[in-house]
Amino acid sequence: MRKQFDINKLVRPNVAKMKAYSSARDEFTDFNKDMVFLDANENPFNNGVNRYPDPQQGALRQLIATQKEMNEDGILFGNGSDEVLDLIFRAFCIPGKDNVISLPPTYGMYKVLANTNDIENREVLLTENFQPDIETIFEQVDGNTKLLFLCSPNNPTGNLIEGDKIETILNRFDGVVVIDEAYIDFASSPSWITRLDQYPNLIVTQTLSKAYGMAGIRLGMAFASADICAILKKIKPPYNVNELTQQKAVKHITNTNNYNNEISSILDNKNSLSKVLVDINYIKKIFPSDANFVLVKVDNADKRYQQLVEKGIVIRNRSTQPLCENTLRFTIGTAQENEQLITALNAISN
Ligand SMILES: *Cc1c(COP(=O)(O)O)cnc(C)c1O
Repeated sequence: MRKQFDINKLVRPNVAKMKAYSSARDEFTDFNKDMVFLDANENPFNNGVNRYPDPQQGALRQLIATQKEMNEDGILFGNGSDEVLDLIFRAFCIPGKDNVISLPPTYGMYKVLANTNDIENREVLLTENFQPDIETIFEQVDGNTKLLFLCSPNNPTGNLIEGDKIETILNRFDGVVVIDEAYIDFASSPSWITRLDQYPNLIVTQTLSKAYGMAGIRLGMAFASADICAILKKIKPPYNVNELTQQKAVKHITNTNNYNNEISSILDNKNSLSKVLVDINYIKKIFPSDANFVLVKVDNADKRYQQLVEKGIVIRNRSTQPLCENTLRFTIGTAQENEQLITALNAISN
């Protein structure tokens, strides 16, 4: 349990002064009521999307709150988690003055968003086991360090960040800790959303792009204290989650059978792929994965990558990332795609 934390000391002064933008539709989100809506300069002829979407994402919010056992005011939706992460930067970091900590090798967007927002990105390498190097991290922290990004399971390495390391950071760091859980649905340990009550400085982000199978609709989520969500809502564009996305997400999420079956199928395929990878002579190491991908070290990543492309298989060469020399990342596909990958891997053994 963390003591003494005041989120209002971290918010950018310009954001602190703002009131949330109230859109035309904020006051009347119940479209079933027999009312005449002449407030938003929309075209009145119904084609399914002629009205602005619900800026509060009410139906979706209710559904996610129930499924995740969260309060509705502790959830924020965005146009992918990339937008949610950008909102976090813009709420807390003063351009040209503040800084954030990220822990490579990790997801590339933290750096992109830091650069976009003119925020210094202080990089502290993970250890050999891809865990946070606590002492070096805290050497880098100063009074202007507003955010610290943890990705768990981490992309591209696939491992979970150890719980005691995360707790140490949550207790010691005086800024906001963002845990990016894009792959948590595949993992063997539970989400940190269950710990939000203990850590008022925690934001957990999740997405519908991976396990939920909806990368195309762009829906990301942040879970945090109601205070943090209220700050982020002030700067959120009112209609950032479009009508088609809200409808499709509600429909798809309701069907939890699909979700569970697809995850177990992906995990089965990961196991069978991993067993085959062990016997391939040019694969030197298979890193343990709690995600829907596997990172492997090979003899010559550029060569193996090219050979696979020639066989019609596209994977990700992660060799330019620190600590990831000669590594390739395989996303787990269907059983049939797995077979095709295995055939190709065996065919290029020279
Ligand atoms: C894929 C991924 C995301 C997803 O971002 P969206 O914008 O929600 O599609 C977020 N974080 C990490 C680490 C990822 O790998």
